Amino acid sequence: MHPPLERCRRCGGETSFEEVSRIGRVHSWIRVDRASVPGFEVPYYIVIVELVEQPGVRIACVVGDDDPLGREPVIGDEVRLSVDQLPGGDFSAPTAQLQEVGNE
Ligand SMILES: [Zn+2]
Repeated sequence: MHPPLERCRRCGGETSFEEVSRIGRVHSWIRVDRASVPGFEVPYYIVIVELVEQPGVRIACVVGDDDPLGREPVIGDEVRLSVDQLPGGDFSAPTAQLQEVGNE
């Protein structure tokens, strides 16, 4: 589940952390043309990524600057996730790198 909770939303059971592959697919995305937070150069993309291990678990990520594809995300694109330091302070956030089409 994301964000992490102490108890399961459905059954109330205890939760724990589990490592995942960091691979997911783009569920939805937006292009940001007007910065609302400092540190990002516009335009940039925010994607909602669904983890391959657990359909329904989705995480919002910035698409990394070193995007090698130079194009807009497409729903269903494979992405690799990381947690990166943000510019301008001691903050980290999930980042998604678009993977080449057919690179599976
Ligand atoms: Zn449960």
